[in-house]
Amino acid sequence: MDPFDSNNTGNNTDRANLPRNMIENSMFEEEPDVVDLAKDSAAFPTFPALDPDEVAYEPRSSRLLVRGLGENDMDEDEEDCESSARLLGMSFMNRSSAHRPSSSPYTRQAPPRSCSRPSTRTMVVCVLFLVIVASMTMVLYFLPGCTFTKSGCRKTNETIPFEKVYPVSTNNELFPWTQLRLPRSIGPLSYDLTLNPDLDNMTFTGRAVISMSVFHNTKIIVLHSANLNITKATFKLGDGEAREVTVLEYKPRQQIAFQFSEELKTGQECVLTLDYSASLSHTYDGFYNSSYTDKDRKKRVLAATQFEPLSARKAFPCFDEPAFKATFLIRISRKPNYLTLSNMPQAKSTNLLNGLIQDEFETTSLNMSTYLVAFIVADFTPISKNVSETLVSVYSVPEKKEHTDYALDTACKLLEFYNDFFEIVYPFKKLDLVAIPDFLAGAMENWGLITFRETTLLVGKQSSPLEKQVVASVIAHELAHQWFGNLVTMSWWNDLWLNEGFATYMQYMSLQNVMPELDIGNLFLAVRFRALDKDALNSSHAVSTDVNKPEQVEEMFDSVSYEKGASILLMLNASLPRDQQFRKGIIQYLKQFSGLNTDTNDLWNSLTQVEVSAQHPNVSEMMSSWTSQKGFPLVTVSRKGGQVTLTQEHFQLTSDNATQSSSLWNIPVTYVTDNCSLAPECRQMFNLKNKSGTLKELPESVKWLKLNYRNTGFYIVHYGDEGWAALTNALSNNVSVLTHEDRASLIHNIFALSRLGRVSFMQVLNLLRYMTNENHNSPVREALLQLKVIYRLLDKRQDDLLVPRMKSYILHQFGSLMDNQTWEEEESVSKQELRSALLEMACSLDEENCIKRAKVLFKNYVKSNGTSRIPGDLQQVVFTVAAQSNEDWVTLLSMYSQATYDAEKRKMLRGLASTQDAQRIVWILKNGLRGNIIQTQELPLVISTVCNGFAGYLFVWDFIQEHWDSLIEKFPVGSFAIQSIIESATSQFSTQAHLDQVQGFFSSLKERGSQMRSVQEALEIIRLNQRWMDKNLPSLQKWL
Ligand SMILES: [Zn+2]
Repeated sequence: MDPFDSNNTGNNTDRANLPRNMIENSMFEEEPDVVDLAKDSAAFPTFPALDPDEVAYEPRSSRLLVRGLGENDMDEDEEDCESSARLLGMSFMNRSSAHRPSSSPYTRQAPPRSCSRPSTRTMVVCVLFLVIVASMTMVLYFLPGCTFTKSGCRKTNETIPFEKVYPVSTNNELFPWTQLRLPRSIGPLSYDLTLNPDLDNMTFTGRAVISMSVFHNTKIIVLHSANLNITKATFKLGDGEAREVTVLEYKPRQQIAFQFSEELKTGQECVLTLDYSASLSHTYDGFYNSSYTDKDRKKRVLAATQFEPLSARKAFPCFDEPAFKATFLIRISRKPNYLTLSNMPQAKSTNLLNGLIQDEFETTSLNMSTYLVAFIVADFTPISKNVSETLVSVYSVPEKKEHTDYALDTACKLLEFYNDFFEIVYPFKKLDLVAIPDFLAGAMENWGLITFRETTLLVGKQSSPLEKQVVASVIAHELAHQWFGNLVTMSWWNDLWLNEGFATYMQYMSLQNVMPELDIGNLFLAVRFRALDKDALNSSHAVSTDVNKPEQVEEMFDSVSYEKGASILLMLNASLPRDQQFRKGIIQYLKQFSGLNTDTNDLWNSLTQVEVSAQHPNVSEMMSSWTSQKGFPLVTVSRKGGQVTLTQEHFQLTSDNATQSSSLWNIPVTYVTDNCSLAPECRQMFNLKNKSGTLKELPESVKWLKLNYRNTGFYIVHYGDEGWAALTNALSNNVSVLTHEDRASLIHNIFALSRLGRVSFMQVLNLLRYMTNENHNSPVREALLQLKVIYRLLDKRQDDLLVPRMKSYILHQFGSLMDNQTWEEEESVSKQELRSALLEMACSLDEENCIKRAKVLFKNYVKSNGTSRIPGDLQQVVFTVAAQSNEDWVTLLSMYSQATYDAEKRKMLRGLASTQDAQRIVWILKNGLRGNIIQTQELPLVISTVCNGFAGYLFVWDFIQEHWDSLIEKFPVGSFAIQSIIESATSQFSTQAHLDQVQGFFSSLKERGSQMRSVQEALEIIRLNQRWMDKNLPSLQKWL
């Protein structure tokens, strides 16, 4: 899947988009009504513990998670502590009570009886008591240090010390299964699905015939089903008679079960036939309804699916976990004026008695996970072309057919590339790419039937290269999934990165090869910087991490799985000594596991098996340090003459003693020096796997060295004061002593180090001085983005001293570059990226010339009735400027409501949302939620744009609190849409008052979202903003 906003080349890449840290506690997978969820909450605080002086803000973390027990109930470890305490008397109690709320009943423990009457018996008792105390003190001394800490010792095996208590089914019988994951005793072989959607009434009926095989003796079958009304269920064992069976349903876990008096035996096969009815979904998942207005202003309806990650169960009963692969035969009925599409080519069509037509598709020739099943009923039109044995088609609503050529052409080129690169030919006879009018994600890789937003598939004849870049990269991503994800699938969502990290890496890699004119490398570089920013938070998580609850699964669709995943693959590929080695390893992996499920180790093992030179570290050993722990290293360079020592530590913006000291990475460090710094041959390698290491002696004459050549490694480098000064000096003399990637990486790194408090903001400004000579897109954009973050924070504080100074600093620093930009059509993608960033910044700072030019372009555009064109990369800045005037805002709104071309329409929407008029802000937010004039799928975009303005960001926060329940009804808790909304709404807060508000609100949500990783992240970002402001405001006044 491609969560759209991560691919937005506009607004959202310019802000640290958002990681998230969720409760990585296997306990939480357990039944709310069976086991006490509070039990281990102390060991897994909902919110990260910050610096000791921030402890006061720690929320009532355990209470958020408690269900069932009172908040004073102790957890098991605490109880152990208590019994020891009773034996040991008060001295221990005093220690331990410091760690407990004063309301705890256990702090009232009385001291041990004193020995007031020294009779012989009492003396003996007293002596005995002293002996006991002495021995217990020794025991205490030798106990691990963690025993009496607040969090206690981590249990080696966190099994639940309770008897299983079965939940109650909807029919009041006991439900025979207690876990979120399905039992492994039985699994599907094939599904035979018949679906009858009724688009007039927005309902459907279905029949699922599921053939299964028994893996272990069992008396139960448990599978998923959500919001389906099962009207009849029959069961047939082997060649026996089919008989009706009772359906047990436990809705909180979206499971149904069948219970048998006799055991089903290993190796037996059986068949369940389930008839059901349901409503088409009104959200963006499951089998959902969508509509669009055709050119005669008539509303047309259609139905489409989006199953990843957990929504196939909303369309048909199934074993809805990626490891339960099976074949699928699908039949769908339709009205004669509609067509149907599914994963496979159509096999036949039959006229039904009721005037409908039933289309039957071929059975999938390979086993497939349920989340990849897809079907569509619509009145779309296609264009097609053959690539070797595959018919590639692009479908859209009929009036947008002319916008599909580019997608078809791109898809064909990329399919050819991948067929060749992976040495495995795409396995199906057809591949459809379909633009759906209502679609929340960017695109979804359903095998053989890839679905897209209109913006990510359709481009007009006049579209700018930047718009084409978006479309091409989404297609490249989804096509890569046909191998990574569809052919070889992760066993469980904890390894989602195997799908998404790979597809993201391949999307950039393939485009660099197939369409070099798109210059995709700059985008990939920026994406890696954003991934570092997010992974620097304590609330981040390991690439491969525990997930169990549905919200946790949703949350895996984040920057760590996608962008960090892709970044570490780039690092690996760049560090391998031989050119084709990475590719060979990948081919081996795909061939070995074709049709199967894997975990992260399978990948590393395949890559290790490919012959590696002796000096290269073992791939599996190296890479597991990057996938099994969160965060990344800070490499610090210290130099004495020719001797250069590197040390590594966890780069963490918020200190966390638990992980900081212990984390070590196996880092393939690369470096260049002033002797040779540009060509790939200049690059030298050093493998840093211990806390510190020494490079081979450098000549004394070397003036500087730059680590992380072209920023292919996932780490940040600190050069020390002298090292930074030398690099700053070198760049001031000559910009081209380093590649543009290296220059951008210096800028990124120094801002990050300033945030960490390792360099002063003065050092940052010193480095930026060289920028007056910089003219490459990547370093300029990185600097602008970093400065914009700071500018917005100052603006939100309404600091009337610093805001104007920052403004004039930026305009002074980049003024001549801004002036040099043209406003005519521009062909080069890189130049377009550069000028759109510069001009958006200039106009947002009210730079006179910029505003004037933008207004003229808009006026001409309106006058010409759409025949004159605004260059695609300048549309955003022009619409945003226009929207600041009353009259033009109204004009823009009417243009928006008539526009059909989605990419342009989105830019108009962002323009509209950038208004500073309070009433319009409220109007646009409300309409984004309502979904008539503005599609609800655009609400995350609206919110993130509105938040950039001062008035907007306050309104949005109120809006979110007021409409939280409607929001999570439209966008599931944990989904990337919700992640983005939370981040937009909170990431510019920097005061204690806002921190308290945000904390208070999210705590009050309880199970409606309080445990989301993005909430922890939001709080962490506010604290960091607060810290940065406290520390730097006084010096900024001096320096700016
Ligand atoms: Zn994807």
